Formats: sequence, C-alpha cells, structure tokens
Amino acid sequence: MIKNILEKALRDLIPELYRLKPHLCRCEQCIDDVLALALKSLPPKYVSRDEGEVYARVELENPQFQVDMLEALLFAAEVVAAHPRCEKRKLTGEQRGQLPVDDK
Ligand SMILES: [Zn+2]
Repeated sequence: MIKNILEKALRDLIPELYRLKPHLCRCEQCIDDVLALALKSLPPKYVSRDEGEVYARVELENPQFQVDMLEALLFAAEVVAAHPRCEKRKLTGEQRGQLPVDDK
C-alpha cells in the first residue's frame, strides 16, 4: 500500500494557513478544496508504508519545502475563496463584496 504523504503534510499546515488568512471559510468543503488544489500543484511524495517514509519526511521538513507547501496552500485558498462551492458562501454570496476576501 502506498500513500502520498504530502496530503498529511499539507493538512498539518492548515492552522498556519488560517492564521495568515483568518477570513477564509473553515468548513470541510472549503478545506478539502484547498487541500486538493494545493496537492495538485505540488509534486506528489508517494511512499510505501515503511520504505522511504523516513527519508521523505526529512524532505518534507526542509524549510524551503515548507515554504513551497504554504505558498501552494495560499494560492489554493485564493482560488477557493474566489469560487466558493460551500453552502455558507453561496448564502452570503451577494454580500461577498463587503467581506475582506479580496485584499488585492
Ligand atoms: Zn466553506
């Protein structure tokens, strides 16, 4: 059995993402969308259950890769905030211009 350990590594960075972007919707749908987009934008890190996991984790803990993952999450969060799919955002969609979503 193999898994992409990038998924867990990205999930671990979600609190940091919300610290940087506190206005982001935190529902399960939006978190999943952000994770899926960020995963697609980074090279996958597949490992078998035992073999290679230690090595891959060392690679994931590399400060530069942490930055790359956070940047991927920030970009994905902007895409999700611009095209929200969850009910909460749909309901408040017409007020979105008043929400501090688009800083730029
Ligand atoms: Zn949401």
